[in-house]
Amino acid sequence: MSILFSFLVFAFILAIPVLVFVLIIKAIRKKPLKKTAWGIAGCFIGVIVSAMLFGFTDPQSNCEHEYILTESTKATCAEAGKNVHQCIKCEKKIEEVLPILEHEWKEADCENPKTCQLCGTTDGEKGGHNWVAATCNTPKTCQICGETEGTVKNHTWVNATCTTPKVCSDCGLEEGEPLNADKSHTWAEATCSLPKTCNVCGETEGTTLSHNQGEWEVVYEGTSEEQGTKQKKCTVCGTVIETERFDSPSKMVADIIKRVVKDFSGQVGEIEIIPATDSDGLIATCAICCENSEQEVKDILAEIATELQKLDVKTEAIFSFGDVKEGLDGTCLAIGSIDAEGNYEVASMSSEFKTERNEWIKSQFSAWDGSHTVLKDLIKDNLNDEKSFKHIETTYIDIASEDKRDYVNGILADAGYSQRVEVGDLFVMTEFSAKNAFNATIKNTAFGIVDYSEGLVRLIGIE
Ligand SMILES: [Zn+2]
Ligand SMILES: [Zn+2]
Ligand SMILES: [Zn+2]
Ligand SMILES: [Zn+2]
Ligand SMILES: [Zn+2]
Ligand SMILES: [Zn+2]
Repeated sequence: MSILFSFLVFAFILAIPVLVFVLIIKAIRKKPLKKTAWGIAGCFIGVIVSAMLFGFTDPQSNCEHEYILTESTKATCAEAGKNVHQCIKCEKKIEEVLPILEHEWKEADCENPKTCQLCGTTDGEKGGHNWVAATCNTPKTCQICGETEGTVKNHTWVNATCTTPKVCSDCGLEEGEPLNADKSHTWAEATCSLPKTCNVCGETEGTTLSHNQGEWEVVYEGTSEEQGTKQKKCTVCGTVIETERFDSPSKMVADIIKRVVKDFSGQVGEIEIIPATDSDGLIATCAICCENSEQEVKDILAEIATELQKLDVKTEAIFSFGDVKEGLDGTCLAIGSIDAEGNYEVASMSSEFKTERNEWIKSQFSAWDGSHTVLKDLIKDNLNDEKSFKHIETTYIDIASEDKRDYVNGILADAGYSQRVEVGDLFVMTEFSAKNAFNATIKNTAFGIVDYSEGLVRLIGIE
């Protein structure tokens, strides 16, 4: 019934504008308006009456509702919810909106971050445990939440001594009894390796005694290149107390030779140092090259001899000297030697060695043909035909020693000559050819003596 009335309200409302339109048309055509005006008024009345009748007949409008909850969607932290209530009499529904919920936070703990109890949303990081290490009594434990991990630690037992029972060094727990009922030690006196020590429990008291220093002992002699090693040991326990490096006598000798030769801008070959057979000294040998000069060689020998005398070990030395311009592989010019008392001497080994005497000998002979210039003139003076003189070869014996003197004088005596040579002289032999009294060219040998001290040249014979 109420549906019919609601339809009538609707129809009257639609009719009003239609009639108003008709009214306007009629007014324009100047036709009578009365009926239409009544129609409009009738429609108004129809709307009011139909609406009133609708009100009287609509069951929902007249119902004394009795609602029950028929549908419910809970609100969450993300979405609103709703409750739908329906009247059990007229079936009218009403909706109730349930607003979005606030998060219900639970603060972060060791294992969880800050979390909403309702939706599980999290914020930030978990706190993490704050562990305290395990002890003999408690396992590893979190200071904050009390959670534990693993088991308790083993006791760290310190063995019982004569005076104390076995005890844990961590927690102090004691177990058993001291080793000795009367709680006294059985002491052994301190030595240089152990302090005063109990024979029973091993407990110590005080410190070790100081070592008993022994004499220096050579462990390694060293070489001419390497330092030696010596040690001092404790005479009681044998512990090495002190170790020192030292220059072996060989190294000291080699170092002197190297240093002096270097000071003279020379070079030293490999230095060989051997023990002397007739004493407990040393003999050093090596090649040296320096300026080609007798004075330089003597200066070097003097310097080395002086330095060697400062050593505790008596040292002899023999050196071969060469020209630094030729290097260590060059010709041996001289042999220098130093005896154990520091005396030195030089023996010329080559006429190339620049000594006063070698220079004097060189000056005697012609650089052109090797003849002795003064002796050649003396020979010519003794010839029939001076112009026929042809020099072949001149040799000489340097009377450098008494042996050589005796040797040459022996020959002279055997040959019937009265002249004799002295140490320092030169005995000169010149081979030449010349024409004789019969105008025949023959080969001859002339003998002469050159006196070093006075520079006198004597022709003693031609054969
Ligand atoms: Zn109702
Ligand atoms: Zn939430
Ligand atoms: Zn914790
Ligand atoms: Zn413990
Ligand atoms: Zn003890
Ligand atoms: Zn010792």
